[in-house]
Amino acid sequence: MRALWKAWGKFVLLQLNEVDKAYVKGNAGVRALNKVTLGMEAGEFVSIGGPSGSGKTTLLMVAGTLLEPDRGQVTILEQQPYLIDANERALFRARQIGFVFQQFHLIPYFSLLENIRAALTGLPADSLLDQTDPMELLGRFGLLARKDHYPSELSSGERQRCCLARAFMNKPKLLIADEPTGNLDEQNAKIVFEELRRFADSGGAVLLATHDERASDRVDKKYWMESGTLRTKP
Ligand code: ADP
Ligand code: MG
Repeated sequence: MRALWKAWGKFVLLQLNEVDKAYVKGNAGVRALNKVTLGMEAGEFVSIGGPSGSGKTTLLMVAGTLLEPDRGQVTILEQQPYLIDANERALFRARQIGFVFQQFHLIPYFSLLENIRAALTGLPADSLLDQTDPMELLGRFGLLARKDHYPSELSSGERQRCCLARAFMNKPKLLIADEPTGNLDEQNAKIVFEELRRFADSGGAVLLATHDERASDRVDKKYWMESGTLRTKP
């Protein structure tokens, strides 16, 4: 599968060029991203390590079209998401990007099934016809018996599997995962990394921030972030 995809040739899915981002509060400023350049091809699984506060989440938010950088270019699927207006950008994000977070961000008063369906909110009905069946996703992640439960009634492994299902719902091209296994046991962490690998093998791109060494043997490229600067991991 992987080899076949590689044979189709390189397709740059995400390109960040010399991206800067600073946070300013009162007189204090934090330079969270410092001339960050990163390219990702379709089929690639990339991880970013680095200490807490080094800028990993900021980078993922910029790449996920959620946070406009101060300088530099962001190109995703040949579009420059920060050059279009916020509504168009939200639509672009809803169509092309999936997110998995350490803290899950499930909606507490929605059942699992409703949480997964919520990934399609805002997409026009005509674009929904070929989307994934939520029941199929729930089955794939071993959550069918849990579909009517609320997030508070689930274990963290089940919640994170629900987040994965939600992230795949819109058939994204780019999957962004921010420390998705921080709260998980061995078995569930393995499921998460295997699913991310499988997604990349099917031609998507995965951008993962993690401290988790268990991801190591599954990723294609490793980067290291320190004080806003991104380097390839030695
Ligand atoms: P990481 O994910 O590697 O822990 P972050 O991207 O969350 O790093 O943070 C990078 C730096 O930016 C840290 O110093 C953090 O305190 C600061 N920071 C992050 N978000 C904000 C914010 N909304 N306002 C001010 N400072 C922030
Ligand atoms: Mg973070």
